[in-house]
Parts: sequence; structure tokens; C-alpha cells
Amino acid sequence: MAEAPPALEIRNLHKRYGELEVLNGISLTARDGDVISILGSSGSGKSTLLRCVNLLENPHKGEILVAGEALKLKAMRKGELIAADNRQINRLRSEIGFVFQNFNLWPHMTVLDNIIEAPRRVLGQTKAEATEVAEALLAKVGIADKRHAYPAQLSGGQQQRAAIARTLAMQPKVILFDEPTSALDPEMVQEVLTVIRGLAEEGRTMLMVTHEMNFARQVSSEVVFLHQGRVEEQGSPQQVFDDPQSARCKQFMSSNR
Ligand code: ADP
Ligand code: MG
Repeated sequence: MAEAPPALEIRNLHKRYGELEVLNGISLTARDGDVISILGSSGSGKSTLLRCVNLLENPHKGEILVAGEALKLKAMRKGELIAADNRQINRLRSEIGFVFQNFNLWPHMTVLDNIIEAPRRVLGQTKAEATEVAEALLAKVGIADKRHAYPAQLSGGQQQRAAIARTLAMQPKVILFDEPTSALDPEMVQEVLTVIRGLAEEGRTMLMVTHEMNFARQVSSEVVFLHQGRVEEQGSPQQVFDDPQSARCKQFMSSNR
């Protein structure tokens, strides 16, 4: 039997802002169940990489494949690639979950309404179906009692757990996390990492930008170190954390312990 295509494949991705080359040909493959941690100094292109995957930012070159399906792209006059097929990008976006540093919950909606909105609108679930799924997910992330609260009434850790539940409600094939604990007070970091660890143990496919080095070491199947928009080093957590080869990666590891 032919091997299943990877959940997510990024091929030779390039992105620039004006003259600034932010991504210089990044390739990455996430197979089903892979947890790939993306490390690198501030400005190395980590967020831009994740944001290009679902076209929150437009790359200038490269290919993105979700479960073997290539995202259809077309070039604009300045060279940016945009979605060539709106139906396809909307469908693929619903298959790629995104968890942001700042949660991005809708402030005017309760936690429950935040979670059921997209499954109803995009997946066509009934309110009852979506609510049942949402309640189970809220229980899973440990905030079932907050379902009728508004985001502002929740702690940062609770908001981020609600945001994770919202992402899960769309049944994504891949989940992208961009520093999911960086905006949290220290005492709330663990509760969110515990939820993400649970997802890793369930075999979810995830790409995660994080500065939580111990956590990345424990949950990752692979670690990627970015420097100036290139993959500078890549390997198992043991390889990259304990025996980095490049000078940049060595220096990063020794200053982030
Ligand atoms: P990281 O997430 O690794 O800190 P980013 O991907 O956010 O890095 O940014 C990479 C580089 O791109 C940085 O030099 C940043 O200043 C620049 N950059 C990011 N977003 C924009 C933007 N919208 N316009 C111009 N420059 C940007
Ligand atoms: Mg960033």
C-alpha cells in the first residue's frame, strides 16, 4: 500500500517584506502524529512561517500541501502568491487550526458561542450538534464551568484553553501554535502546556513555535531551529538540544536553558 501523504508539507517557502527576506526557502514535512517544535530568536521568521501556511501572510514562492493536496496559488503583480481558489483555501483553512499568542477569542461572544460559531457556519453543524461537541471539548480542556462566560471574565490560561477548544471543534488535520503560552502569567503556563501535551499524546499533528524548551524537548518528535528565515538545524529533540551542530543553534541553546 502506498504511504499516506504527509498531513502538511511546506516546500521551498519564500517570503519578503519589502526588501527584507524573511523566509529564505523553508521546507518542512509533518507526518500524521508529528509534533514539530519551531525554535529560533526573535525575528527569525517563525510567526511568518506559520502565518504563510494558511495564507494569513502571502508568500512569494513555494508550495504548501495539506494531506497531499497542493494549495492553489496565483501570483499578484508584486510577486505575492494569493489563493487562486477561494473555496479551496476556505476548506483548507478549516483543516488547519491556528492557536495564537493572544488567544483571539471574539470578545462579544460567550466561550460557548466562540466555539460553536465556525462549526455551524463552516461545517454546517446544527446548534445542538455543535453545542454537544463544544461542551465535551470544554470539559476536555478543563473549563466546562466557563461556557457562558465572556472572554474578559476568564484568566489568560482559561482564554487560551478556550481558544484551543475552539480550534479542536473544527476537527483540524494540523494545528499550528504560535507561542501559545508567551502572553500568559507564569502560573498559567503549565495548565495550557498540559492541554497541549494531551493533544500530542492523542497523536495530533502539530507545529508549535515555543520558547518552552523543556516542554519542546518532552513532546516533540522533531525540532527545527530557524535562523534568518532558514532551517539552520533540524532533528530529534536529543540531537538539537543536546548536540547542536551549528554555531547559531549552539549559542541559542546555551542562552535559553
Ligand atoms: P519571529 O516570529 O521569529 O519573531 P517574525 O516572523 O514575526 O519573527 O518576523 C520575521 C521578520 O519579519 C522580522 O524582522 C519582522 O520585523 C519582520 N516582519 C514581520 N511581520 C512584518 C510585517 N507585517 N511587515 C514588515 N516586516 C515584518
Ligand atoms: Mg513570532
